[in-house]
Amino acid sequence: MRTEFRCAACGGLLAAGLEALPNVPPRHVFDGEPVDGRRQAAPTVPRGHYAVDPEPHGPPFVPAEDQDGFPPAYPGGPCISGPDGEVLVSAGVRGTFVLHPLDAPALLPHPTPPGSPIGCCGAPGDGPPDRACPCGAVVGSEISDCYTPYELHLLPGAVLLGAR
Ligand SMILES: [Zn+2]
Repeated sequence: MRTEFRCAACGGLLAAGLEALPNVPPRHVFDGEPVDGRRQAAPTVPRGHYAVDPEPHGPPFVPAEDQDGFPPAYPGGPCISGPDGEVLVSAGVRGTFVLHPLDAPALLPHPTPPGSPIGCCGAPGDGPPDRACPCGAVVGSEISDCYTPYELHLLPGAVLLGAR
């Protein structure tokens, strides 16, 4: 059975024909070899598949309980710190759908507010959601920098799943 993802706001098809994985595969890091001409890691989820991420995703980022272990801000991501040097981790939504970014080609970049984190070679994954349906509804975020995994996260409250 294949899954399709639709925009919860307009019903528009965002991704189709995807097969569920039992869990999120191990994250890759950029190894210095460009992927499709870009400095980014190999995709976490192969084309044609998706996985549900049980870990928090995206903002808000809050001080980590483990300040000494330098935990990543989100799985596979960098360690980030706040204005006072405290280590921050995501306390965002759990249960995001992780896709290969190229499996949702209709999505448009959504401008993030001024002051949002700026990536190096791509989207750093510690800013507000930055991918929108063509109707304008914000539906997810891409992580695609040279020091992050390479993933598209669809927000569970912004998309509808169907089977066909
Ligand atoms: Zn829409």
